[in-house]
Amino acid sequence: MAVINETHRLRDLDRAFLERYNLVGPRYTSYPTAPHFHEGVDGAAFRNQLLALTPAQRRRPLSIYIHLPFCIEHCSFCACNVIISPKMEQVSEPYVRMLEREVELHAAVVDRDRPVIQFHWGGGTPTYLNVDQIRRVHAMVAGRFNLAADAEQSIEIHVSWTSDEQLRTLAALGFNRVSLGVQDFNPRTQEAIRRRQTYERTRQIILLARELGFRGINVDLVYGLPYQTPATFGESIERIIDLRPDRLAVYNFAYLPGRLAHQRSIRPETLPSGEQKFQIFLEAHDRFSAAGYRYIGMDHFALPDDELSLAFDQGTMQRNFMGFTTRAGADLLGIGVSAISHVTNCYAQNVKKPPAWERAIAAGEFPIERGLLLSRDDLIRQEVIAGLMCRDHVNKHEIERHHGIVFDEYFAEEIERLEPMVRDELLTIGPDTLDLTFLGRLFVRNIAMVFDAYLKRPEGKQVVYSRTL
Ligand code: SF4
Repeated sequence: MAVINETHRLRDLDRAFLERYNLVGPRYTSYPTAPHFHEGVDGAAFRNQLLALTPAQRRRPLSIYIHLPFCIEHCSFCACNVIISPKMEQVSEPYVRMLEREVELHAAVVDRDRPVIQFHWGGGTPTYLNVDQIRRVHAMVAGRFNLAADAEQSIEIHVSWTSDEQLRTLAALGFNRVSLGVQDFNPRTQEAIRRRQTYERTRQIILLARELGFRGINVDLVYGLPYQTPATFGESIERIIDLRPDRLAVYNFAYLPGRLAHQRSIRPETLPSGEQKFQIFLEAHDRFSAAGYRYIGMDHFALPDDELSLAFDQGTMQRNFMGFTTRAGADLLGIGVSAISHVTNCYAQNVKKPPAWERAIAAGEFPIERGLLLSRDDLIRQEVIAGLMCRDHVNKHEIERHHGIVFDEYFAEEIERLEPMVRDELLTIGPDTLDLTFLGRLFVRNIAMVFDAYLKRPEGKQVVYSRTL
């Protein structure tokens, strides 16, 4: 195959090539990935981890994530951990009260001096909370932790369920990043995914957010949804380009009807094939590129002057459960049902069901149901996968220096398995580095999977991942 560096040439990739790379695999918001967490890490183990930090580790900055799982309607494409209820305060009020007790549990063992450099609210729909609740949840963290003056404070919103007053309140509290789910404006697609939101309200929210000083405004789109074609998705993209968000996440729809019962209302015959999905993604890639956006990494585009784009250039972009970020070297405290913490070499995930979560907190225990203590091999592979995902290359000598290995020996089997991908021009392997090509950047999940030791373990449990195309 000739060198491929332009998307119009990718349109001619043959079906055999696409089928070869249309595998099921993780998105690598962590390595090892969450399905490999186990019950050996519980609340007590997590507490011990926090108490056993060295003085240097106790000075590390913090990132705090609050999970607010409520939504008013269940979008049929959703893969998040959500609680659907139209009852608003009746269900959110007890949750907010319990959140405060979980924040207190963390505050009791985490050094108060540690600067919080990233504070993120995700869901669900965080703006399910009313203005008073928003202020209280913010205060419960700001009052107990050292929220840095220049902290990145970000929130995910559903524009149909966010009022101007809520957005103004968030800005007054110091929120400075906002992410809007759009998915697609096409009415037929919106109807099929049970997601109704107008272009006009989306536009109003973006304009108001900008006026209020929010930066790094992000819009989420999803490709591979029912009835989408390159032409219909192209129309939605043009409308988004008119609004000029700073960042775009263009996610591949994860259709998992076997695991997610609510997705069964989506008829498989309405979905584009893997090959068609790839063409839809290329349409997005071409249109965003023509409008001045850069493809910065898996699923993500940003304007050249956006902070994330600059971090990509400087090689400082990071990936965590919230996606790509510019804030490096922080321990993550996840608060709320299903939230994941990452403290030094330990991942710990909260229970997913509210009753069990409440019981643990009421008993004064961290509500952890599973996690993982990272081994040396996990840490080595984690760094390789982070290099592929965030920098498009891996510096062998850095990995050797950090971990005391000889890269080509340690990964001899992986390098052999990468040979067909080298022939397909997804990457080059030199004496010093592994470098992704333009094509390889689009198939980075496939390359990262070669380094994932858990995918090779026959004794491992069956994990349901989405397809890479
Ligand atoms: S609003 Fe978001 S989190 Fe809630 S159901 Fe829809 S996609 Fe899922």
